[in-house]
Amino acid sequence: MYDLIVIGTGPGGYHAAIRAAQLGLKVAAVEEGAVGGVCLNVGCIPTKALLHAAETLEHAEKAAEFGLVFAEPERDLAKMGRWRDKIVKKLTGGVASLLKGNGVELVRGFARFTGPHELEVDGKKLEAGKIIIATGSKPAVLPGFEPDGEHVLTSTEMLQVERGVPEKLLVIGGGVIGLEFASIYARLGSEVTVVEYEGQILPGSDPELVKLLARSLKKQGIAIRTATKAVGYEEAGGGLRVTVEPVGGGKQEVLEASKILLAVGRVPVTEALNLEAAGIKTDARGFVPTNERMETNVPGVYAIGDVTRPPLLAHKAMKEGLVAAEHAAGRPAAFDQQIPAVVYTQPEFAGVGMTEAEAMERGIQVRVGRFPLSASGRAMTLQQTEGMVKVIADAENDLLLGVHILGPGASDLIAEAALALEMAATATDLALTVHPHPTLSENLMEAAEKLHGQAIHILNKR
Ligand code: FAD
Repeated sequence: MYDLIVIGTGPGGYHAAIRAAQLGLKVAAVEEGAVGGVCLNVGCIPTKALLHAAETLEHAEKAAEFGLVFAEPERDLAKMGRWRDKIVKKLTGGVASLLKGNGVELVRGFARFTGPHELEVDGKKLEAGKIIIATGSKPAVLPGFEPDGEHVLTSTEMLQVERGVPEKLLVIGGGVIGLEFASIYARLGSEVTVVEYEGQILPGSDPELVKLLARSLKKQGIAIRTATKAVGYEEAGGGLRVTVEPVGGGKQEVLEASKILLAVGRVPVTEALNLEAAGIKTDARGFVPTNERMETNVPGVYAIGDVTRPPLLAHKAMKEGLVAAEHAAGRPAAFDQQIPAVVYTQPEFAGVGMTEAEAMERGIQVRVGRFPLSASGRAMTLQQTEGMVKVIADAENDLLLGVHILGPGASDLIAEAALALEMAATATDLALTVHPHPTLSENLMEAAEKLHGQAIHILNKR
């Protein structure tokens, strides 16, 4: 009998298991696949490794501007794959050691509920006072584009860069995953087209910055077709012919491709868990709803991470894991924090809090400060002057509502904005904080200054 069993050892599951063990609970973590879940094995980490590798090619090219000319790079994709695997192995091995070191028992196998406090793992019965479901998500499928491992691939298969660089890659889905793979393969030499159903790539993100990002991606050779529906495909002459049409009707068109990446979102993993045996409810989309303490409708059963609700992000899963573990251990805990989001394109795109449109939808009058990276000294020294920082504050009380960044280092810079929002900072707080020079962080300060018509490095035309 355990105090707590966690199903799944992705970022949500391993955080929950470790924190619960730190708080003195007797914990088991059940894992049917690889320790570390999607994020470490086939998600966040391997994509970032490949993005870095591919980006290096671009840095080498751009170096000619300041007088450093390198020989034509040789691409050893097998070696790139081994390097990616080495990082994954190191991190997943680290998680396994941390689970062990914290006294978490790792049970290998597939868990299914037999009751609210009972699981069966490959024929073995396990009991616990509390259970956390952290089973994550898997790629969503689009009818007519069922992944077959050959023509239509998922993100997991696209990570196998050693399979080769397709001459023409058609990406269905202009969300985070689609754009990150578009960036990797465009830099490695593919002719990439992204097809997005909605009217913009990264639906829901700040449209002004999305427009700038789309412009930048197009300059990198990535073709983008928004408001376009992928209808079906056929094999022809050793390649693929993909039929697309404008959303809302119109003339169909055929695009040629050598491979298709299906990146139309992810769905929660709940089937075969036998949730009914414990009376656990799911919503219409299959997610397991919870309250802010991450409890499901069944007392003592929690759900965290991708299986609960969007956004499907590792750091959300981690935080939810900590909340569930602390609550299961009898501590007061709740999830009410801001969740920053990052897209690791070049330039990077990151945001936290409300967009201008969201604030306006809620009837909040806003003031917006924008600072273009073309005016940033640090951005110039990094040869990355495309992008903008956008700070949104409540016009009435100056409270920060949202910060959105397109530019180098956005993935790290957004943490300052997240802290500012958590601390209920005002735009004036951000503007008054001394930022080191020359840095990209100054751009946040300048955008906040601009909001009050006081930026120094651009004119404050009203
Ligand atoms: P998962 O990581 O999905 O782990 C679930 C685990 O549960 C798996 O190991 C699975 O084997 C196990 N499991 C499932 N069912 C059972 C069962 N019945 N019994 C036993 N074990 C079971 N997020 C970011 O924040 N930043 C990024 O840069 C980022 N990049 C991504 C890139 C890609 C290509 C993809 C696909 C995702 C990316 N994500 C990123 C999303 C991130 O990977 C997920 O949000 C995160 O992994 C969710 O964590 P989780 O703990 O909920 O579940």
